[in-house]
Amino acid sequence: MTRRTKKIGTAGRFGARYGVRVRKQIASIEAQRRKKHMCPRCLKRSVKREGTSIWRCRHCGLTFASGAYVPNLGRVRYED
Ligand SMILES: [Zn+2]
Repeated sequence: MTRRTKKIGTAGRFGARYGVRVRKQIASIEAQRRKKHMCPRCLKRSVKREGTSIWRCRHCGLTFASGAYVPNLGRVRYED
């Protein structure tokens, strides 16, 4: 069961613990992590997270290593 709230989204699972600021940061990072990101090769918004630092484009099939929670497209390492 995942508890999400209107105010702090997915961080709702922590209840009233840890403070608002930290819970807001967690909610923001988790939203970014699941979102579709832009592919560095075909430039489509179809890159999803496979695992820590591993991102794959559903459109062209490109798999690359980048940021752990958000793909850091500034320095992407290709593997064709
Ligand atoms: Zn692509």
